Amino acid sequence: MSAFFETNIEFLKGVGPQRAELLNKELQIFSFGDLLEHFPFRYEDRTSFLTIGQLHADLDQVQVIGRLTAFELIGEGKKRRLTAYFSDQTGDMELTWFKGVQWVAKRLVKGALYIAFGKPSQFGRKFSIAHPELELITEQPRERPHLQPVYSTTEKLKSRFLDSKGISKLVETLLEQGLTKITETLPAPLLQNQRLLSKSEAVKNIHFPSDPKVLERARYRLKFEEFFFLQLRLLKLKLARTEKYRGQVMGQTGLLTTFYRNHLPFDLTNAQKNVSREIFNDLKSGKQMNRLVQGDVGSGKTIVAFISILIAVDSGAQACLMAPTEILANQHYEGLQPYARQMGLEIALLTGSTKRSARDVIHSALLEGRLSLLIGTHALLEEVVQFKNLGLAIIDEQHRFGVAQRAKLWGKNHDVYPHVLVMTATPIPRTLAMTLYGDLDISVIDELPSGRKPIQTIHRYDKDRLRVFGFIRKQVDTGRQVYIVYPLIEESEKSDLKSLMDGYESVCRAFPDYPIGILHGNMKAADKEYEMARFVKGETKIMVATTVIEVGVNVPNATVMIIENAERFGLSQLHQLRGRVGRGSSQSYCILMTKYELSKDSRVRLETMVRTNNGFEIADVDLKLRGPGDLAGTQQSGLTDLKIADLSRDASILTLSRDVARELLDRDPHLTAPENRPILEQINRQKKNAVNWSRIS
Ligand code: ADP
Ligand code: MG
Repeated sequence: MSAFFETNIEFLKGVGPQRAELLNKELQIFSFGDLLEHFPFRYEDRTSFLTIGQLHADLDQVQVIGRLTAFELIGEGKKRRLTAYFSDQTGDMELTWFKGVQWVAKRLVKGALYIAFGKPSQFGRKFSIAHPELELITEQPRERPHLQPVYSTTEKLKSRFLDSKGISKLVETLLEQGLTKITETLPAPLLQNQRLLSKSEAVKNIHFPSDPKVLERARYRLKFEEFFFLQLRLLKLKLARTEKYRGQVMGQTGLLTTFYRNHLPFDLTNAQKNVSREIFNDLKSGKQMNRLVQGDVGSGKTIVAFISILIAVDSGAQACLMAPTEILANQHYEGLQPYARQMGLEIALLTGSTKRSARDVIHSALLEGRLSLLIGTHALLEEVVQFKNLGLAIIDEQHRFGVAQRAKLWGKNHDVYPHVLVMTATPIPRTLAMTLYGDLDISVIDELPSGRKPIQTIHRYDKDRLRVFGFIRKQVDTGRQVYIVYPLIEESEKSDLKSLMDGYESVCRAFPDYPIGILHGNMKAADKEYEMARFVKGETKIMVATTVIEVGVNVPNATVMIIENAERFGLSQLHQLRGRVGRGSSQSYCILMTKYELSKDSRVRLETMVRTNNGFEIADVDLKLRGPGDLAGTQQSGLTDLKIADLSRDASILTLSRDVARELLDRDPHLTAPENRPILEQINRQKKNAVNWSRIS
């Protein structure tokens, strides 16, 4: 936008200092440009008319053409109202006013034809519209926009005559002066190829659409632009990184071939094959890899990690794998050790509880390069842990580690940064991932190994508890183990903890003959590990816990997950919890316990869980229910600043805009081509605005 749009809103005709202050406070409108981007949130259709005979009580807003036959003021003082009689060939009705009656009465023209707009209500057999919008029909009907914009506003603004109409008036004034000053932000060839409206056409029509088709195109253009610049920014960041950092070239496949031929315990799923190939392409590219692998629980991420490790080791590098807890690190170690042994790789485990003497051995083996693979917790990050040549760092369960920790791993190789592979079992919609992890490349394992028995999910009410306990007993008697999970939310921590303890006691009473464990966040870390370890070993049969068991633990013998107060959990959390079962060959069950009265959203969540086991489908529903603002990590990403585009509804536009942005950067990485000037200028404006914004808030 030109400097014109940076003008303080105060100076727009019809605003002034007082209304400006309100616009600042209530709608964060500071400048002309801000008002221009205060888009209508819906439109009223003024294209169709009804006759009075067609009215019924369920109609929302209607337009009726009729003659105003008479009007009168009725009542006194505060009860005074104005009633006008309005008729067409099919019948008659009333129009009424309770406020400003004098003012309206002065302006009504008896006998004239009007268009009345508003919500009809029925009294007996008669209809009336209270406070209708009236338009006098003259000989020369003026050009009227068919769709009228409706703007969000607030009570305070309304009291200053800035209701939707008032705002619309301001926008109209602004466009009269400013329409020709709107600068194009996208290159001409792009507009042409994607058949996009020009910026000024789009802005004009988003506020005052001449017809629904143009409105659609205006919306599309503005959404596209919004996503395009977001993606461009992320892709440029990534580009800057890959240009800057080279990576070790890892192109050897000897070990991998041996492993595939002689040791691979099962056929890889197609998804596993594809992701392995993507990783291999990165590793041999000469650029540093930063890749995120998303895969639902049980999709087989570990073997993909091992394949990457083989490629790295084959090229003379070392690898490490970091997990967020000791239990998980242990499990990875135990899972990978057999493969490593078959392939003759030295492997070690390093956690907080590794003994001093063992540590020293590990440290020197790492430095000398004898140790190929180190598994561990964040103990790996300590300064004393130094590698001869760390070439690949794998991080499991990404959301537990921050960017800072990722960076620390980078620093473990002083010559060339290691390749980084991040694995997460928290599926998020691809479109969201593209943006949230915009600086990472993303692979998705969207397929489970065949032959899995899908977990059966059942919704039960609290009154069915006895039946549920009976079911638990049956399962435990056949040797299986059971989780019972309670919510624990910080705000209601005390009462939550109490219901957990009450639950634990009632479970102990119901099953006096079984060893039962308990696990919650208030316990000491060592106690938690101890309880968890007992369950892993099968010593306890039932584990009563809060969501601390959420992440990653693998107890294949556990086949039942009971979730208490399931209505209080979010969808992704329910899905994570359910993923704790279904890890062995036996049929597994997830039972969602709730009270009887449930909100609409809770019902949708529970129904979704019962209907599907697919984490990506669940993530989509979650995004629709909550919007991106609530999902972890979105706050810092700029996603919540989207003005018009919507991540869950406009996924296809997002994907397209990203592809277009990528192609464009491929051809012109530094945006130096003359045709791309508008882009560069827009980026600079956005940077400037970002600065202004932080100064204001
Ligand atoms: P996650 O993605 O949750 O980390 P894992 O890597 O732990 O999943 O794999 C879960 C289980 O599935 C493991 O027991 C693993 O051996 C097995 N598995 C992995 N891939 C396959 C496959 N292609 N076919 C059969 N079983 C597989
Ligand atoms: Mg795993």
